[in-house]
Amino acid sequence: MTSIKSGFLKERTLQIFEKGIDTFEMTCDRVSTAGSISQRACTFCGSRVVLYPIVDALHLVHGAIGCAAYTWDIRGSMSSGPQLHRSSFCTDLREKEVIYGGEKKLKNALYILIEEHQPKAAFVYSTCIAGIIGDDVGAVCKEVQKKTGIAVIPVHSEGFKGTKKDGYRAACDALMRIIGMNDTPQVPLSVNILGDFNIAGEIWVIKKYFEQMGLKIVATLTGDARVEQIKSAHTAQLNIVQCSGSMRFLAKQMKEKYGIPFINASFSGINDTAKALYDAADFFCNKSVMENTRNLISNEIALITPFINSYRNKCKGKKAALYVGGAFKAMSLIKALRILGIQTILAGTQTGSKEDYEALKTLCDDGTVLLDDSNPIEMSKFIIEKKADLFIGGVKERPLAYKLGIAFCDHNHERKTGLAGFEGMVNFAREVSLSVNSPVWKFAPRRGREYYV
Ligand code: SF4
Repeated sequence: MTSIKSGFLKERTLQIFEKGIDTFEMTCDRVSTAGSISQRACTFCGSRVVLYPIVDALHLVHGAIGCAAYTWDIRGSMSSGPQLHRSSFCTDLREKEVIYGGEKKLKNALYILIEEHQPKAAFVYSTCIAGIIGDDVGAVCKEVQKKTGIAVIPVHSEGFKGTKKDGYRAACDALMRIIGMNDTPQVPLSVNILGDFNIAGEIWVIKKYFEQMGLKIVATLTGDARVEQIKSAHTAQLNIVQCSGSMRFLAKQMKEKYGIPFINASFSGINDTAKALYDAADFFCNKSVMENTRNLISNEIALITPFINSYRNKCKGKKAALYVGGAFKAMSLIKALRILGIQTILAGTQTGSKEDYEALKTLCDDGTVLLDDSNPIEMSKFIIEKKADLFIGGVKERPLAYKLGIAFCDHNHERKTGLAGFEGMVNFAREVSLSVNSPVWKFAPRRGREYYV
């Protein structure tokens, strides 16, 4: 029998797992294999996606102009107020700076931008070129902070430094420099929400739930965030961590430094949203919070059930492949797809950990392929062989689905539809149903094995 991995790079073998056939522990958390054309972004991108939804801060990329392409256009985090985060500023380092250094240019750029935009804080992202020429970004930030009086935070995210996850870590380190700057007392019945970036306004849906439960939100990290809120984040009683890949570092640091406990949560799908809200309510052991939570969940479920049932009738029996950033989202999606009667035949992540893959193995059906840090060739092969009807992913996966002639649902950066919470589940079901049942697929025949051989 030919192995499902035949034709792939040998070094990738332990990052490809078929449930029911393989028994090994998956390898993950490692730099991408050379020649594999990873779908992963660089360390700098990891830090950028976490920090730039802070809407009243200045975000300055210290590097070549191409790095600045990771901007609002790629991930449309919404703001209920200031829009400064939507501007992509870059020091545009060129040959002269490569030879003589870029610190002077960085300093000038910071003074000009701070004067012009009056931000509440500034983040300076160190990219590959800044790291290679050895600019002392920290020293420049320190000097500018002293002169301007606003927090100027270096983000040590040189692209070559490691994986996208190292970028998350750099972003969390940067946030820790701001958290605690406000000297305010602890807020009773309060939470921070970590790891939601307010794509298509999702944090507003989540905030609404917590307010209905009777809990206060001190800071959202970092969707629609304000610098002042972040400075007070240490006054919350509980951290709710949604994107485990990006924000678990911060939750752990806040627990260590401020003693704030955290719980993992996902607001994708009905079951996980309900669980996240119940877990938060359980933590506070407060009768009224628990009652509000029960009412909220039963009302919301009653409201959406007819819609979900109707979409389920249109989708059942289909097969889906998914490739997402973190494993928490992958697990929630598998459960949400099951509610729609759709089987997951491929589940991959960019930043999953060993524990995440063990949990995915338990959750998936036999025959499901799990992929860590995958590439287009591997995904194409499994999508074709396992006969997926739908691919769920982000900006880099969309063209792959369309080239293969199957439906696509964006669950990542670019989308304009909120998929969080109970109402998000209805939006998700509608998108999936419209895409898999679209008549367009009659005119875009599915590709076969010739596509990847
Ligand atoms: S930081 Fe490096 S790897 Fe990342 S976009 Fe810039 S040059 Fe490319």
